[in-house]
Amino acid sequence: MIHAIFDKIGAPALTVIFVLLFLLETKFRLRKRIQNRWRRIIVNLLASIPSFGLLRFIFLPAMVWLAYKNETIHVGLNYLYALPSFIEAAIAFVLLDYGNYLWHVLNHKIPLLWRFHLVHHTDPDLDITTAFRFHFGEMIGSVFFRGAVVFLTGATPLTVLIYEIVFEAATQFHHSNWKLLIQLEKALNKIFVTPRMHGIHHSVVQQETDSNYSVIFSCWDRLHKTMRLNVKQDDITIGVAPYNNPAELTMGYLLKLPFTKIRKGKPTARP
Ligand SMILES: [Zn+2]
Repeated sequence: MIHAIFDKIGAPALTVIFVLLFLLETKFRLRKRIQNRWRRIIVNLLASIPSFGLLRFIFLPAMVWLAYKNETIHVGLNYLYALPSFIEAAIAFVLLDYGNYLWHVLNHKIPLLWRFHLVHHTDPDLDITTAFRFHFGEMIGSVFFRGAVVFLTGATPLTVLIYEIVFEAATQFHHSNWKLLIQLEKALNKIFVTPRMHGIHHSVVQQETDSNYSVIFSCWDRLHKTMRLNVKQDDITIGVAPYNNPAELTMGYLLKLPFTKIRKGKPTARP
């Protein structure tokens, strides 16, 4: 199933989305760049290779296996009622996304998880390649949390796979440096996480990082009052203040960063 759905449909679709967003953020740039674009592409894509391998060969099989297992033992919300299968799938899809909101919050609040998620946030620029800059340790941790969410929702293997493909597409979109027409972005943001919204989450200012955790649907931030939209993109400095030396942030440094002494000192509020 992973081969038929993810490899044959999902991966090519995600590749096309990547190319389109890459071209769009080149033509319509939202935030000024700090670093040389090509150097960042190399660092971010190299740092993401272990995560790609884990995603395809451990994470996806684990999630689908759990969903298959669940079809025989029938644990989870979807087994509590008998609704048309597309409605059950829609409910599971939305709840899988809520699980990712909670997982993202935990990545910021639990020091051990922050060590790994920090690698993603140290990028001094934010564009589509940041969507791949995740430490493989974060992915290993997510297997347990997100696996539990698969079980709790009772999502089918197909729903899990479709969610993962849409999750990856949404992650590429909201990390992109694409300046959408403001009216279009405002309309999209009523339902989805958009580039300006997620840009605020990548600010060096702590209060701004402590907002906009949602992945696909923006409603989770509204629900938990963690939504923040009143910051202009031109006013945002992207990154983590104690890690603001791009020359230091090589691929090797990023891979070992979670196992080093974590520097403190984020600006707590905008002056
Ligand atoms: Zn984050």
